[in-house]
Amino acid sequence: MSLNELPLYIQINPLDNVAIIINSKGLAEGTRFPCGLELKEYVPQGHKVTLTDLASGEAIIRYGEVIGYAASTVKRGSWMKESLVMLPTPPELDELPLATKIPDALPPLEGYTFQGYRNSDGSAGIKNILGITTSVQCVSGVLDYAVSEIKKEILPNYPNVHDVVAINHTYGCGVAINAPDAEIPIRTIQNIARHPNFGGELLVVGLGCEKLAPSRLVPAGESGSIVSLQDQNGFTNMIQTIKEMAEERLISLNRRQRETCPASDLVVGLQCGGSDAFSGVTANPAVGFAADLLVRAGATVLFSEVTEVRDAVHLLTPRATDEKVGKDLIKEMRWYDEYLMKGEADRSANPSPGNKKGGLSNVVEKSLGSIAKSGRSPISGVLSPGEKAAQKGLLFAATPASDFVCGTLQLASGMHLQVFTTGRGTPYGLAMAPVIKVSTRNALMEQWHDLIDVNAGQIATGEASIEDVGWQLFHFIIDVASGRKQTWAEKWRLHNDLALFNPAPVT
Ligand code: CA
Repeated sequence: MSLNELPLYIQINPLDNVAIIINSKGLAEGTRFPCGLELKEYVPQGHKVTLTDLASGEAIIRYGEVIGYAASTVKRGSWMKESLVMLPTPPELDELPLATKIPDALPPLEGYTFQGYRNSDGSAGIKNILGITTSVQCVSGVLDYAVSEIKKEILPNYPNVHDVVAINHTYGCGVAINAPDAEIPIRTIQNIARHPNFGGELLVVGLGCEKLAPSRLVPAGESGSIVSLQDQNGFTNMIQTIKEMAEERLISLNRRQRETCPASDLVVGLQCGGSDAFSGVTANPAVGFAADLLVRAGATVLFSEVTEVRDAVHLLTPRATDEKVGKDLIKEMRWYDEYLMKGEADRSANPSPGNKKGGLSNVVEKSLGSIAKSGRSPISGVLSPGEKAAQKGLLFAATPASDFVCGTLQLASGMHLQVFTTGRGTPYGLAMAPVIKVSTRNALMEQWHDLIDVNAGQIATGEASIEDVGWQLFHFIIDVASGRKQTWAEKWRLHNDLALFNPAPVT
């Protein structure tokens, strides 16, 4: 009998009274494990089996934490279905311990470098891309037309430039420009326009009558140019002007060469999407190990997705480097609680139906798995949505969990590349930055062999350790940052649209 056919479950913490089934087809009623546990019914892959009898109302423990309460009596060896799990209340924000268990800094990891592009502001890029920003959606059709011609006719003459990317978005007109929350979409666009992969070349295409005046994206005294379509003489003239201004920038970008940069210049974003019950067992802990390696090498690591850490925040605030960082973390949680309340949404809107099919019963279980991505390092800073990272180490960058919104906000924070874990599978990618996809299960790796970059599924079957996959991912990050290796999303040019987070009113 091969390893894959033996009945396998994973219990994460000795305190856990549920475990998840590893076998890809699930396991039939009557299956006996070597420990003596016998299944009372069929349990699908990734779903939970009870290791003890549970009384009605008894705490269900996974990751050594309460993920819910049993809705009725459940016998040992049963399938702990989602309908049997009652959602616990989230941790009280006023009573969280701050900076009480600051992890010791792990030993520095020296000598790691990548081949990047040095920018004049001291930052480094891992790509050499011309980004053309827009101040309003009205111009996107014209810009897309121009970019398509630039790519066909001009870009081939500048072989050191990787791409020309239009920063299209739905903001700019019909928005309450001075509403307090409007600063989020505005600073997101401002920071994306100056992304380190764009080499400091700032070009903005605007219409001329929009509320988000292009001058807010290129303030007086700062370098950068604006093309205003209402100042142009017809369509052909618009395209001609954009092409000419683009070519000026391509000439200067083309002179750039990769040079050796310390790994500490890297800004790596972490995200998950299409999670399953394996996410917190295989891919996320491996990503957490790689995140620790990056932090040890002096880099900046961003973890995000407020709704997916909210229910585990009591495990994060003790890891804050000081009380201020702990309070900043709570401030972002509170802001999001209020944002959800305003929309009369509650946290049960997450997980998605696919998450549940993959075995995740509720947002508490999802959160406990999600925060494994943050590894074991101290949390040294907190960014509000779309703020640029100004420090090194492990930072919490507050964003919604939506893949595209989180990706867009992490780009605004200066992310060079993103590590994305998935259990159900999603082909997500970004035009401005490589996305490395890490699968939680072997079956997904086999099924999506030309979309998944790193497989963490072998951790569940015991064929690889968390450390093995963590190191593999770390080296892959360095290779991708250096342009030596390509992610599948880069190869297939899978580019999701940017999606701004706009909690402010639209008029
Ligand atoms: Ca996500």
